[in-house]
This record gives sequence, structure tokens and C-alpha cells, in this order.
Amino acid sequence: MPRYARVAPPLPVEGLFSYLVPEALLDRVVPGVRVTVPFGRQKLQAMCVAVDDAPPPEGITPKPISALLEDEPLIDEEVLQLAGWVAKHTGCTWGEALDAALPRAVKIGNPGRRVRHARLAIDAHAVPGVVKQLLEKHEKQARALRILADRGGDLPVRELMSLAHVSDSPLKSLVKLGFLEFASVRVEHDPMLRMPVARTEPLQLTPDQASVTGAMIDAFEAGGSETFVLQGVTGSGKTEVYLQLLRHVIDAGRQGIVLVPEIALTPQTVKRFRERFEQVAVLHSHLTDAERADQWRRIRRGEAQVVVGARSAVFAPVPRLGCIVVDEEHETTFKQQNVPRYHAREVAVERARLAAARVDGADGRGAVVVLGTATPSLEATHRARTGLYTRLLLPERVAGGVLPDVHVVDLTVEERRKGYTFLSDPLRAAIEDALGRGGQVILFLNRRGWASVLMCPTCRGSLKCPSCEVSMTLHQRAVRVICHYCGHEEPPPERCATCDKPFTALSFGTEKVEDEVRRSFPRALVARMDSDTMSGRGAHASVLDRFAERKVDLLIGTQMIAKGLDFPNTLLVGVICADSALFLPDYRAAERTYQLLAQVVGRTGRGPKGGRVVVQAYDPRHYSVTCGMRQDQEAFAARELAEREAAGYPPFGRLVRVIAQAPEAPDAVKRLTELTDLLRGDAAEGALVGGAGPIDGVTVLGPAPAPIPRINKQYRFHAVCKCHDDAGVEHVLARLAGKTGPARRARVLLDVDPVTML
Ligand code: ADP
Ligand code: ZN
Repeated sequence: MPRYARVAPPLPVEGLFSYLVPEALLDRVVPGVRVTVPFGRQKLQAMCVAVDDAPPPEGITPKPISALLEDEPLIDEEVLQLAGWVAKHTGCTWGEALDAALPRAVKIGNPGRRVRHARLAIDAHAVPGVVKQLLEKHEKQARALRILADRGGDLPVRELMSLAHVSDSPLKSLVKLGFLEFASVRVEHDPMLRMPVARTEPLQLTPDQASVTGAMIDAFEAGGSETFVLQGVTGSGKTEVYLQLLRHVIDAGRQGIVLVPEIALTPQTVKRFRERFEQVAVLHSHLTDAERADQWRRIRRGEAQVVVGARSAVFAPVPRLGCIVVDEEHETTFKQQNVPRYHAREVAVERARLAAARVDGADGRGAVVVLGTATPSLEATHRARTGLYTRLLLPERVAGGVLPDVHVVDLTVEERRKGYTFLSDPLRAAIEDALGRGGQVILFLNRRGWASVLMCPTCRGSLKCPSCEVSMTLHQRAVRVICHYCGHEEPPPERCATCDKPFTALSFGTEKVEDEVRRSFPRALVARMDSDTMSGRGAHASVLDRFAERKVDLLIGTQMIAKGLDFPNTLLVGVICADSALFLPDYRAAERTYQLLAQVVGRTGRGPKGGRVVVQAYDPRHYSVTCGMRQDQEAFAARELAEREAAGYPPFGRLVRVIAQAPEAPDAVKRLTELTDLLRGDAAEGALVGGAGPIDGVTVLGPAPAPIPRINKQYRFHAVCKCHDDAGVEHVLARLAGKTGPARRARVLLDVDPVTML
């Protein structure tokens, strides 16, 4: 009897496609292997998701599979089903979700232990001249060359491409021109994995830790899947709880996955897991393809007891999953910002459900999810309140230590008194005091560069990116103005092109704070940590090591420094502008402001000398600021949940955002209007393919220009579907199925449960 493989191509085409399995491959084409198949006029690689002998529909003659790409399935039924779930819930196809679940390195096979580097082929002194010449016509080449020179003249090609926001074609042109050369470089070993570590023994748990760990272990033993929200301030011993839960899970013959935000995936984090377990696999963005493929295979063979990784590690092919930890659950980096637009927290919960339901894992045990954070997202908070998740508290720091003494500075008052400032007198005094007592200082500002606005004093116009409706940020060190959305950069203009008046630099970033601090405290050792200074592999670790060794007195940084640091000698944390993100047109602005502040405040007060926090803000009475300063999660959640409920925003109901982008605004509006008409059910008769009439419990807002109306030469319009419940979301996705993607000069994207509305 002929056998048919159901295949999911990694493309935005609906449905599965059937192919005949050739005799020779009969036993080897199984779910989870990839095959090459003819598809239209091309051949493509696609995942086989099922094999059966159900005859194809009348009149269709399936073509045979051309080739089999691997001997063993890359993933098992659990991850296959998980990808199907992701597709259904994010509005993409199964094939697209599967494609994202597999690392590139695994898909292309092991490329060997070499990576391509770009190296400067001219003298570093010659670079500025060449850059100047290129800038006229070849901006991308100029940018790539300058960035390469800035970083020492030697970078992996992939890293240079991402830093410069370019494809490899400008780099190839630079090679042709003789400014650059490519070199194949032997890969050094991943520092996170080779660093020798000493084993540590489990600590004697505090009564609070013992009780929450006990509850999780009981749930694991009882079977089924339960999700816990582990709410505990930084230093309350959450990581020790994860470690002991994982130990139990591993001893029961299962494996665990630990998801951390990319910025928290530092050698320090990984070290704590490696100190406790023999076999830790790490998946992070600085791995080379070969390293990643190695890790993946080890995990697939069941050799890794624990997988630590960023969001995509939720798809790691561990054979017998027993627990998933999502550390810093509230972080928005758990949401992927391109197809499939999944949230790792949601996928983790579904994966645990699938793992617990597996028959081949039938030891009666289940799989548990732990969402750990000091500042649970409102989604997690709400689900704990309604009984869907179980909340567990770690109310105190293990080491005791007192909550820091927090002092607020009203920047509006300061400015009235002495003009525009970002180092107020109280903050200066506190820095002086902390340094004088031999302590260290962390200054936090979530904005990089020198000044984020260059304004003309006459026409009041600001310098905008030519491709985006966004002000360009002045980077003094690089002598550039840079667009933080598309990466466009150019030399800073002296004067306004229209009025010929010199620009005034408004608003300040980490670069300017660094400069001011160096001038005010000339004897202090100062370091800055943001994505401008932290690009190279290991750069992050080395600044932190220097801070730990007290070779740095004062560390200035963006949200990179807001978490994971545990330095008892930090006597002062200064928050330069706590509410800089509060006024963004985004319903999550208050939540983000609160969380960031509460996290930063938690950086001090750990050692015997206690700690202080100075918070500067323009609206210091806003509840996100007052609650953040006190790390008062209950008060914040109560207030913000009430606001969200009144406005019908998540976690009360859900959102589906539909974004249309096009080089010409009318094309975007036209496509989006067709879709909103369809969703409202008032499209012309003929267009009603997906169903007529309005959808119950769904309100469609828009089309309207997106808050950032143009990025990368694309005009952006959006519509927002407010859905009363999950069924509403499903209906919206069903009506839009097959109607998104690129068509008629515009591209339509779907974002279910968006974490940003900009
Ligand atoms: P969190 O993950 O909540 O920030 P950690 O697990 O990192 O907290 O714990 C904070 C500090 O307290 C760490 O230095 C850790 O080694 C220590 N610690 C945690 N639990 C215990 C315990 N039961 N006994 C002694 N020290 C502990
Ligand atoms: Zn731009």
C-alpha cells in the first residue's frame, strides 16, 4: 500500500502537502525528519509531520519525495505538536513555526569549526578618509567599515552584519575594493562552556524556600502540569529553588529547561547551573553555528540534564522534559518580534502540558513550569488571581539585608531651580558619599548615545532619520548621528538645513552621563555598559568582572545592568530618569516603568553596609514610580489591573495587532482597510470569504498611523482588534488566514498579544 508523507513547508502557505514516500525510503521517512520535495517549479526542504496511507483526494496525484535529509528525526512528536500550537496561536503556518524551532546550524548541517571573519585590509589611519569618500554614495559600506575599524578591525562576518544593519553584499563590495578581506578563522571554544567550575553542594534551604520547593516537587510527582508564579525580590533565593527543583527532576530521570532573557544570559548565570550539574547545555546568541549544532545534538541524545538558553530554547529537543523555569518572566524579550511571534512563557506552559500528557513518559510524574521574578507580569498576576497559576512567595532576602533607603528627586523642580540637568545636587552628594566610603555606584539610564534629539532653535524642527519618522541620536564618541530604528548614520550636521542655525542637543543618553560623571568625579574609575560598548563576545563579562574586582568604581548603563548583578559593595544606585518611558503611547508603559525601577532598586542594599537609591523623575508621584521605588508589587498590580480592566486591555481580554507597511502610504492603508472591513464584516459581498458580519466580542480599532509612522522607508499603519476572550482571537486569525504577508506593494504582519504598540 502506498504511504504518504504530510509535509509542512517553511513558507506562509496554508495547510500540509502530501507526497508519495518512495519504496527505498519507506522505513526512514518518519515524523520529525526533513525531506526535499518538488514544490511548484522549485525544490524545497520541509519537515515531515505525519506519515499515513490515507489516499489523497480525487484527482490529485502526489509527487514522490526527492530526498531524505537526515537519518534520525530532528525533533519528536512533542516539539512537532508544540510548533503546531505556536502556528495556530500566532497566526503563522506550521512549517514557519517548525523552521523557527530549529537552529539554522542544525538545518544546514554541521558547517565545521570555522567561521568567516571580516578583517580590515587597510591601515586603521586610512579608515576615516575612506569612510568619508564612501559616505556619499555607499552609506552601508561606509558604516560597516567604520564599525569594523571601531571594534579593532576584526569581527565575525555575521556579527558585523548585525552591528551595521547590513546584508553581506556591502561587505563583498568592500572586499572587491580592497578595503576588507574575509578570513576563515578557527573557532575558539565558547567561554561559557569551557570555564572550569568548582562543584557546589545544595544549600540548606530556608523555611520559605523549602516550602515553595516542596510545593513544586509535589506537583511534579502528582503528574499533570502546573504553572507556578514564584514571586521573590532579587536575592530572595529563587535561583537556589530552581536548582533544587531541577536536582529532583533530574534524579527522577527527566530533564529541565531554564529560559533567561538574552541580556541575563551571562557567564555568571550559566556558572551557577554548571556548578551544580554535570551536564549543562547552553544555547545563546554568541554561539557559532557549529557550537549550536553540537549543543542541539547533545540535548537530543538526552545527554544534557539542564538546558539554559534564551527564548528559543523552549523548543530544545530534550527527550523527557520535567520542568521549565522562565526566569525574569516579565521581560518582553521573551516575545519574538518576527514570525512566529510567540511568547516563550506561553509556549513553555503549553510544552509542559504536552510533556505531562505523553504516554512514553508514563512514570506517573508530570511537568511543571516556574515563572520566577520580583515583578510578575500582569498576565501572570491575573492568572494567579483567577486560579489558573499558583502563586508562591519568597518574601525576604536570604542574607537579610535591609531594603535600601530611597530618596526621590523631582527633576521638574530641579530644572526650575538650576536649569536642565541630569545629575541633581542630591544625586551628586550621594555619589560623593558612596565613593568616599569606599563603595561602588551604579547609574542607570535606559537611553544610549549622547543626545536623542538635535533641535533647531528657530524652526523647532528636530533632525530626523531620512528613512524613519524618528529623531536621530547623537553619538559623540563615534562622531555620528544614528537612527536607533534602522541603523542609518551620518556625520552630525552642524546646522539646520533650513534655517542655518546651529542645532541644540536635547535629552541625554548614557554617553553624556558618562562624560559628566568623569568630569565631576575625576578620580573615580568609570565604565559604561550599553549596546554601543558591549558588542564583542565576552565584553559584558569583562566589565562585570572588573566591577566585581572593584577595578571600576562607577558603572553607567542601560537595562543591561538592571538585572542579575549581585555586588554587595554597591552602596548607591542612581536612576537618572525613572519615567523616561512613561509617556510612550503604549498601554504597557506604566508596567515597564514600574518593573525597571523595582529591578534597579533591588541592585543595592545587599551587603552589610546597606544601600541607598536616588531616583530622579519628572513625575515622581506617578504610581509606577512610587510603587517601583518601594518594590510594592501588590499596590502596583492592584492599581494597574484596575486601569487595564476599565480600558479593556490585557490581561482582561486580548489584542491582535494588524500592521501594514509599504513604501507608499496609500498602499498600506488600502490593504489594511480591506482587512478591517473583513474583520468588521462590512466588506462588499464578494470579498467575504472568511465569514460575514461582525465577530462576537471583538472590537476593531483603526486603521490608524502607527505611533512610529515610518521605519526603514516603510509607512506603517495598524489596526488593533480588542478581543473579549480567546475565542475572539481565534475568529480574527481564522478570518485573516492566508490574507497576510506581502501582496500588492504592501506587507501585512500579525502580532497576537503584542508587547509593544509602537
Ligand atoms: P535570586 O535568584 O532570588 O536573586 P539567589 O538564589 O541568587 O536569589 O540567592 C541570593 C544569594 O543568597 C546567593 O548568593 C545565594 O547563594 C544565597 N542563598 C540562596 N539560598 C540560600 C540558602 N538557603 N542559604 C544560604 N544562602 C543562600
Ligand atoms: Zn532610521
